[in-house]
Order: sequence, then structure tokens, then C-alpha cells
Amino acid sequence: MDPLEPLRRKFPGKSRSWLKRALARLGDVSEGPGYYVVRGRPELGDRYPEYRVWLSGGKWYCTCYLTEWGHKRARDICTHVAAVILYRSHKLARREGRFYVAVGVVECRERPQAEGEIYAKPVTGRTIADYARPKWRVAVISERPVVAVRCGERVEELRGVEASYEEAKVIAEEYVAAS
Ligand SMILES: [Zn+2]
Repeated sequence: MDPLEPLRRKFPGKSRSWLKRALARLGDVSEGPGYYVVRGRPELGDRYPEYRVWLSGGKWYCTCYLTEWGHKRARDICTHVAAVILYRSHKLARREGRFYVAVGVVECRERPQAEGEIYAKPVTGRTIADYARPKWRVAVISERPVVAVRCGERVEELRGVEASYEEAKVIAEEYVAAS
């Protein structure tokens, strides 16, 4: 999938270079009292060291709208405002989407079980001992930092790392697919 696709849905009708400029500014956003500050970048065509962005009456404003080319920009939305919109949605996603992904190799005769979304693949054995004691590559996506993986009566704890759900899914799939 095109990594710019989610942005395209958020800002329809914008060119690829516009979306890339908005994305490039994401790390330049900071919060002031009642407004946001977006650091200016000469390579993106900025003439000032910083721009202020604020919301008023349901409409976004940017200090770049006050410059000589601002009237043209004000009719639409500038990439400073777009960066602030992205910053806010990322912040919200971080707060809401707190997941953990735990990975490890677990010895088990049958497929291990865990609370949460489990990915498990048998490790291909090379010796008779491997066949006698089958191992599984296990990845679990959970809302808890420590995940209990059950193999029959036995329980093994795996410690997870924090991630968004999307990140956790990628980590889990890649871990289990590796051999
Ligand atoms: Zn602007």
C-alpha cells in the first residue's frame, strides 16, 4: 500500500508533494498556550523561523496567511496546519491505542494458548530431539505488558514492548514468519 494513502484520505485533492511536505513537518510541531508552533524550514519554502497555528470558530489559521502570499493560502489549508492536524491525530492514536507485543520461543506439544491475539508457528526441527520436544515461535498482541502463554498446564510469561496496534501486528507477523 502507498504509505501516503491514509493522508490522501485526510486531505483529498492534494498533490503527492504537498502531502510529503505536510508529513515532513510532523516532527516540527510543538504546543504553545492555546496555539501550536511549527518550526519554519527554508527547504520547504518557509521565510520565517516559526509559524503559529490555531483553531478559531471551527476554522484553522496560520500566521503564514498574514504574509503577502497568505490570501491565496488562506482560501485553502497550508502544510503548517496539515502538520498540526496530523500531530493531533497521532497524539490521540498514541493515547488510545496502547498495546504490547510479546515474542519468544516456547516448547509445547500442541499449539500454545494465550490471552490476546496469538501468532504461533512451529519451529522446524533438525534433530530427533527437536521432534520429541517441538518448539513454537510465538507472538502475542495484548493490552497487558506481561503475557501468560499456556502450554497445557505449564505457563510461561513473556514480557511485551509497547506499540500501536498496527506496529504490534507488523512485529508479530514478522517475528513468526522468520525462521
Ligand atoms: Zn501556514
